[in-house]
Amino acid sequence: MPMYEYRCRKCGRYFEMLRRMAEADRDLECPECRSGEVERLFSAFSTVGCGSPGSGRFT
Ligand SMILES: [Zn+2]
Repeated sequence: MPMYEYRCRKCGRYFEMLRRMAEADRDLECPECRSGEVERLFSAFSTVGCGSPGSGRFT
């Protein structure tokens, strides 16, 4: 099962979840504020190691 990365549009929180591909966008809920307004990010695979220069997400 792939690990997906999400961001809550409401409170801006990032979180990760292991989901089946078919269910990647289904029944998403922010663990922080319980909002359903969550978007999936596309850099989910392998977050450790070389990383991705220029993503700048955490700066
Ligand atoms: Zn939230």
